[in-house]
This record gives sequence, structure tokens and C-alpha cells, in this order.
Amino acid sequence: MRIQSLLAALVVCIVLPLQAFAMSQINSVRLWRAPDNTRLVFDLTGPVEHSVFTLSAPDRIVIDIKQAKLLTPLSGLTGGKSPITQVRTGSQGPDQLRIVLDTSMQVNPKSFTLTPNQQYGHRLVVDLFDNLPSNTQPTANTPVRQPTNPPIASSKPLKLSRLPASSKRDVVIAIDAGHGGEDPGAIGPGGIREKNVVLMIAKELQRQINAEKGFRAELVRTSDYFIPLRRRTEIARKKGADLFVSIHADAAPRAAAFGASVYALSDSGATSETARWLADSENRSDLIGGAGNVSLDDKDAMLAGVLLDLSMTASLSSSLDVGQKVLSNMGRITPLHKKRVEQAGFMVLKSPDMPSILVETGFISNPGESKKLATSSHQQALARSIHSGIRQFFQQNPPPGSYVAWLRDSGKLAIGPREHVVRSGESVSLLAQRYQLSPAQLRQANKLKSDALKVGQILQVPATTLAGQ
Ligand SMILES: [Zn+2]
Repeated sequence: MRIQSLLAALVVCIVLPLQAFAMSQINSVRLWRAPDNTRLVFDLTGPVEHSVFTLSAPDRIVIDIKQAKLLTPLSGLTGGKSPITQVRTGSQGPDQLRIVLDTSMQVNPKSFTLTPNQQYGHRLVVDLFDNLPSNTQPTANTPVRQPTNPPIASSKPLKLSRLPASSKRDVVIAIDAGHGGEDPGAIGPGGIREKNVVLMIAKELQRQINAEKGFRAELVRTSDYFIPLRRRTEIARKKGADLFVSIHADAAPRAAAFGASVYALSDSGATSETARWLADSENRSDLIGGAGNVSLDDKDAMLAGVLLDLSMTASLSSSLDVGQKVLSNMGRITPLHKKRVEQAGFMVLKSPDMPSILVETGFISNPGESKKLATSSHQQALARSIHSGIRQFFQQNPPPGSYVAWLRDSGKLAIGPREHVVRSGESVSLLAQRYQLSPAQLRQANKLKSDALKVGQILQVPATTLAGQ
């Protein structure tokens, strides 16, 4: 009896782990190329045990997956900007799958598994980080805020006020297009995807901001790949951002919900039920895309929490200020979901040192609004209104040492409306004169094809012309 029960226990011991990791099938493999890494996502029918290691001369990555069967071709992993040049597969003993990736350069692999969520089942994620030469690697904590002129070698003391305007730094805006890669964000009628719409708006906003002297816009995400939420604010910080703007176009449980909104961070609960729901669904993004080196982040979380409490208040009031300016400008071109900046616990806004806002450009789940969001004219109008709000904020609150601060301090920045609502009797030439512009500049800034103005029409007044250049 004793031996029998011992045997039974042994059998249970052997069988249980096998049951926990029963044979899984790899049904598809997806590849996403980011500027400095490549992500491979294996879609599995169940959980797996795996290991990843590198071999050199020639450079290659070996991925061993226990109890797995490959049911998809891997030919799509090579070519393009991916460092993978060739893929081979084989078996390592019974039921162990081995995948060997030949790479054109040394890469640092990191891997983790993800459990199922609303969009995907079990996944194995292998990130291949490009091994950049050390001199091209961006240094942490070194904001890119160098003056555009080389340092002047002179023994004479320099008076700061005498420095040419060109040596003043730009105000840096980090534009974060939400989602990306395997995280499509909200999906609207007809399959329109949030990640694509918001990237187009982000690129248009970048173009507009870069066209304005004294401002520079940096994209956090430049094409279709996933970035974990915390990494997004890190990227912005490395670019020396004065403001973080995350752009979204989300879904709501009610298809009828419509309108744009702007969010700032809340430490203590969301201001509305919609705010809470959206914060939850945006924060889920990391569950979809994987937060990466989770264990490290956990250690930072406690310290981060303390620092957050200390310095959040100042940047929160700036966030609410810039958010309100963006919102009221958006209100001129699209209906608003809420007239005031809402507050919710968005992970992506938790940057104590950077004012941060999240702009919901509209509800992609609303059939009418999603149609509008897909058009380039509406994308441009949205970008213009966000740009106006940002410009107004920084003209009133220019960072020290910036060109915009210099403009203000030398009286070259007219405090006044940056947008003009046309009244009866006003003409292009009259307004151009009033704002110290040429009529051509005013026409160009507003893409006017003729000089016919309508009463109530909103004109953009470019700031550069007020600098007296
Ligand atoms: Zn979103």
C-alpha cells in the first residue's frame, strides 16, 4: 500500500508539471521594428517555458521553447530594417523547439511571456536591442539642451543679455502618439485603428510646432511599434522635454459618446466615471504590450511614489493650465466631451518633473467622429488647435533661457490674442498691419486662397512676426 501511494505521488509529481505546460502551438509570429530594437511576438495556444541566449561569430540568437510545436512559417522575420538575416528551426530533444536567428549585428535579447488579455492569448515576447557603439548611445539624464552655437572661447566675461537670440534654447515638446505595434488601441467602425490615427495627428502637430521659431517637437513614437508606458516618459525626459503631450482617440462603452477631452493626472480618484474608465483602459496598454523589465521598475516604484508627492503639485498646476488652453482651442473646431480639464490616474502622465497632458481627440467608437478622425483636414485642424494652446501656455510661462523667454523679456512678444476672430469691416491688409505682418504671411498662416474674410472666422496669428525680425 505504502509503495503504491508513493508511486502514485511520484506519478502526480511527474504529471502535474507536464499538465501545467502541455504542448503549446505557435500559431503566428509578429515582428515590430522600433528605432533601436526589434520585437518578436510569438502567439501561443498555452503557457510555455523558454530560454534565450546569444552566440557570436557569426552573431546569432537561440530561442529554446519547451513543449512547443511551430505551426507557422518564419520567413517573414527577415528583411526590411530588421537585423535578422536568416531563420532556422530544429528540435532539441523530444518536444523542445529550437529557433536560431542569424543577425547582421550583435543584439541584446530580453524575453518574457504574457498571459492572455482582451486582444491576444498567451505570448512569448523576445526583444532584440541593437548593440549601438557606445558613443552613439544616448546618455541618461543629459537633456539635449545645448545651444545651437559652439561655445565662444573668450576671456571676456559674457553678458547673458548680449548673447544672440539664436543661442537661446528651444522650448521642447514631447508628442506621444498612444499605443502602437501589437497594441492597436481602440478600434472603430470599419476597423479604423487608434494607433494609426494618433500617429498621423502627432506627426502633423510636430510639423506645425517645428515650423515655429523657438519651439522644437520630438516624437516619442515615430512609427508602428509598442513602447511601454513608463518608457514613454523616459524618452521625453531624455529629449529634455518641457511638456509631454500624449495623443489618443478612444472608445467608450457607449457608442454615442463623442467629443474631445483633455486630462491631467489625478492622485486621488478620477473626476468622472468616463475619466476612470479611460484611465483603466489606457493603463491596460502595458498588459497588452508588456511592460518589459518589470522587476526593475518595481524597485523604483516606492522611491518614485515619494518623489511624486513632493514635486507633483507644481507640475500639476502647469498641466491643468496648459490643458485648459489646449481644450478651449480644441473647442473651436470640434465638440468637447467635457468643458474642463479632467483628472485621472493615467500612468503616462506620472512625470513629476514635466507638465503632462493627455489629449483625447475624440471617440473613435462613435461612427460620425471616427469618420472625421480619419480625414487629414480634421487631423490638421486638431493639431492646429493643440498647437495654439501649447503656444499660449509657453508665451505666458516661457522656461528660463529659452528663445520664447528672450522674446518676452525684450518686449518682442506681444501679449495678446494668438487667434483673431474676424469682425465686420476687417480685411486681410488691416489685420496684417495690426499684427505687424505682411498680408502674405497672414494668408499663408491661414491657407487663405482669397482675401475674402467672413465675420466670425478664426485666424491664426503667427508669433514669429511679432519678434520684429
Ligand atoms: Zn488610447
